[in-house]
Amino acid sequence: MTKVYAIASGKGGTGKTMTVVNLGTSLALMGKKTVILDADIGMANLGLVLGLEKKNITLHDVLAGKADVSQAIYQLPTGLRVVPSGLSLRGFRDSNPDRLQFVMSELIKGAEYVLIDAPAGINRDGVIPLAIADEVLLVVNPELSSMLDASKVEAVIDIVGGSLGGIIINRVPPYRAALTCQKIGEVMNARILGVIPEDSSVRTATAFKTPVVIMYPDSIASRGYKALAARVAGESDATSVFQAITPQGHKEHEVHKGSFVDRLTRSLFEDV
Ligand code: ADP
Ligand code: MG
Repeated sequence: MTKVYAIASGKGGTGKTMTVVNLGTSLALMGKKTVILDADIGMANLGLVLGLEKKNITLHDVLAGKADVSQAIYQLPTGLRVVPSGLSLRGFRDSNPDRLQFVMSELIKGAEYVLIDAPAGINRDGVIPLAIADEVLLVVNPELSSMLDASKVEAVIDIVGGSLGGIIINRVPPYRAALTCQKIGEVMNARILGVIPEDSSVRTATAFKTPVVIMYPDSIASRGYKALAARVAGESDATSVFQAITPQGHKEHEVHKGSFVDRLTRSLFEDV
């Protein structure tokens, strides 16, 4: 069965695209059939960071009836399948629902994991991936503003009937990772699925249009992405240096859903 994840965040630049690329690549390297889609129409750069920017057939063309679905899917040597920018949600809305349903079913055919690079923030287009995904994974940076924005998205996920799978804490200072993550886990009261340290090799690899997990497989960021992939795939990764720092004894998000959203609504939308 296919599992669809939306990788989302409250504000831009938290590391969604890097997460989609490196989680997707790691899953593919684990032998999992994985498709990644660019739904971030404002900042569509998934194709760019993978060197696919010159490919001109995208889902736009498919929805416009100008190309077959298969022509908008690009398979990389790792086996990862990529649908680059052009997953226009406006196009989705305007397209014939029957066609849309057909396109989505073709896209996810045979896939075990589908990762959607969602737009940042809360707007009409942005909520669609949150609603259609089986689970939303929120990418959060260890800053108060990032956590607050993520909290707003958490509230929206609840409103649109989506499901929060957990949070990925990205750009964590390696020297105080454990403390940082423990605090964030407490504040957000959500399951921490992954911890990715700040690591300059992420940017270097991007300059070479190569996922860091391929270019620098032993870097600390790559270890974080691989541990995240192992979590997502339900396989433990004892070699992860960050596994041990995940706060223990966290209560499942579901249990606290009501009270958490109540708390959020009070703190964000009311003057209390
Ligand atoms: P988003 O898709 O959320 O807008 P990106 O994935 O494009 O964010 O990342 C934004 C920038 O931050 C990029 O320049 C990327 O190279 C950098 N970046 C992301 N994650 C890390 C990390 N763990 N360490 C260092 N730089 C990172
Ligand atoms: Mg992005």
